[in-house]
Amino acid sequence: MRLLLTTSQGIEDLAKGEVENLLSRLGVPFRVEERPLGVEGRVLAEVGEAYYTDEKGRKRDLSVPTYLNERSRLLHRVILEIASERFEGIDGEEPEKALKRIEDFVASLPVERYIKTSESFAVRSFRKGEHRITSIEVSKTVGKAIFERLERFGTPKVNLDHPAVIFRAELVGDVFFLGVDTTGDSSLHKRPWRVYDHPAHLKASIANALIELAKPDGGPFIDPFCGSGTIPIELALRGYDGRIIGLEKYRKHLRGAEMNALSAGVLERIEFLLGDATKLSEYVESVDFAVSNLPYGLKIGRKSMIPGLYSAFFQELSKVLEKRGVFITTEKRAIEKAIEENGFEIKHHRLIGHGGLMVHTYVIE
Ligand code: SAM
Repeated sequence: MRLLLTTSQGIEDLAKGEVENLLSRLGVPFRVEERPLGVEGRVLAEVGEAYYTDEKGRKRDLSVPTYLNERSRLLHRVILEIASERFEGIDGEEPEKALKRIEDFVASLPVERYIKTSESFAVRSFRKGEHRITSIEVSKTVGKAIFERLERFGTPKVNLDHPAVIFRAELVGDVFFLGVDTTGDSSLHKRPWRVYDHPAHLKASIANALIELAKPDGGPFIDPFCGSGTIPIELALRGYDGRIIGLEKYRKHLRGAEMNALSAGVLERIEFLLGDATKLSEYVESVDFAVSNLPYGLKIGRKSMIPGLYSAFFQELSKVLEKRGVFITTEKRAIEKAIEENGFEIKHHRLIGHGGLMVHTYVIE
């Protein structure tokens, strides 16, 4: 089977590594590719049949999509591929012509293999790029083609609110993709533990990407601007056995982080501290790892205070950080200045897509 896996732009290599690691535990042949057909935020996995032995010693089929949905920390969706196709020139094409190409293509696909006639379905679409058609038009067109094809086998049922089967159509640039979305309507990055919704929270998938970049080895770890606790909570959920600290200036967010950690079942694993990261050395003597989604001054606070805040924070960080720091921010100039002024070295830089922005990510030592 071929699985199209979605994640954030800029962390495809880390998602690929995670998927390879998970699949290698199944003892099945597999091949994983980053950015199939050049599409960002996508990973393709080709996987053989997987089995497990039940308690009575019987060989049972193992659903690889379910396995990935349950275990991945970096993926957003696991989609069973029906077909992928490059539609040269669809970008600027007349709406009727573009939709006709999609309709004819979908009509030729054996969608009946993926749904029983007794099951209801819906089509959800995702579109990115310069097109003269909307994602709603793509959904309608694909839905019509699937409906007409299924009519050959019975009476198809459409249920837009609670479908049994979700077909996912994606048009990214000139690449069209159709599959069955095994994840459902809620993306995996929306963690069930999130009971407190911070206005600027980090996607859990990106929190895990930052943790992967930090490579924490069991030593003390801090998120000095922890907000609702996404990074420390995800680290604790990975079974980290070192000290985990979350520092936050505002009581409301700190309480929210504690509520989230309680809901995730890891409250006793994290030390949540109320405090100011520009006085970091007053709270911790030394830490091996610091990983944080810095304030950008967009949703909270003023932008003009960012350079001063970063400068004061990195000065404090230089007193306590032993090994590695990973920071994500939109404020390139302010962070690079603060990193340099305080004797840190940038070991790695990349851009990650978050909330419609490409955000700068730094690994420093
Ligand atoms: N990663 C967090 C999450 O997923 O919820 C969001 C972090 S948010 C971008 C930055 C956080 O830094 C905010 O919660 C803000 O209240 C906090 N903050 C701002 N200035 C601070 C300071 N001087 N010390 C500690 N925390 C601060």
